[in-house]
Amino acid sequence: MQELLKQSSNPEILKPLLQAVKEKAAEFISLYGRKPAFMEVCGSHTMALAKSGVKQALREDVSLISGPGCPVCVTDQHSIDSMIALAEGDGRIICTFGDMMKVPGSRQSLMDAKINGKDIRVVYSPVDSIRIAEENPGKEVIFLGIGFETTIPILAILVEEAYKKGLGNFSIWMTTKLVEPILRHLLNCGDVMLDGFLLPGHVSIVLGEEAYSFLPEEYNIGGVISGFEPAELLSGIYKLLDIAITKDTRIINDHPSVVTKSGNVVAKQLMEKYFSLCDEAWRGIGSIPSSGLSIRREFDQFDAKKKFKVDPGEPKKTKCRCGEVIRGLINPTDCVLFGKACNPMKPVGPCMVSAEGSCAAYYQYMREC
Ligand code: SF4
Repeated sequence: MQELLKQSSNPEILKPLLQAVKEKAAEFISLYGRKPAFMEVCGSHTMALAKSGVKQALREDVSLISGPGCPVCVTDQHSIDSMIALAEGDGRIICTFGDMMKVPGSRQSLMDAKINGKDIRVVYSPVDSIRIAEENPGKEVIFLGIGFETTIPILAILVEEAYKKGLGNFSIWMTTKLVEPILRHLLNCGDVMLDGFLLPGHVSIVLGEEAYSFLPEEYNIGGVISGFEPAELLSGIYKLLDIAITKDTRIINDHPSVVTKSGNVVAKQLMEKYFSLCDEAWRGIGSIPSSGLSIRREFDQFDAKKKFKVDPGEPKKTKCRCGEVIRGLINPTDCVLFGKACNPMKPVGPCMVSAEGSCAAYYQYMREC
């Protein structure tokens, strides 16, 4: 199969891979009398599965459940409202990833605030926010720090750079999330029956294969670290089926060219140096202990949450069901607003905004399914 993976974009190569997965799924179904259910932890996998047609092609064979790995989608309403309230202050430049701009707050979005004259800038690299701070010494520059372990090391580099340069007008509004606590939370709740996890190739570059050993050891559930090409996805699902059928529960690294056993040690050291564990609020779930990172006390001057007081008020209730989508409890199409009141042009919730959001993936590629 590894040889086939190298030619992953060739449809003629994908057909036998797809057939092999279907046959393996049939084996599972004949053994257990039900479809296997795997959760793709990461929003990039959700999008790749839908865009490639793998999810649609396996609709009758495997339940592929979207998980909580889209950083915009898991950011709770109060956090979104706080970021927008922060942007409304005078003398501030807010730097953010583009996905955040259209996420609806209770009263407005960052895009609305920008249209209303607030200085909110989309940066392609977080490091650009350091340059903006240097160019604007009379203003406070705040980077909205959302993301999982793929992004967090870059935020650590921002703190390091700002510290070295002695930047007094730069800070980060940390709303970061960690993979392990949310997986533990989902498994502890037991709301969704799962036979394995499709684990994200990019986050695993930082975390390493060993970071998931708690899954088989403590929860008796396996996982496959996978890349994002169609053949890699099919290979990952095939191996998940194999684990589920043989009950040889373990973590398989199916992305060994970039993911090592212990991950990126330098990135982990950077995170450890500048950040410490904190409780984080997750959309539709609430606060999970030690599920995020905040800036260490020694570097308080770069912590926007300590530097600025914001009062976003009570979040407005909506009919958006993103909280259930990210926990794998419903499909986006189960939301009554899907494709009607909520669409990419007029999103009601973050799952329809984000390039990694389940609702956006379903809207773009699976509306007819
Ligand atoms: Fe929220 Fe829209 Fe998704 Fe419904 S379709 S869960 S309103 S983002």
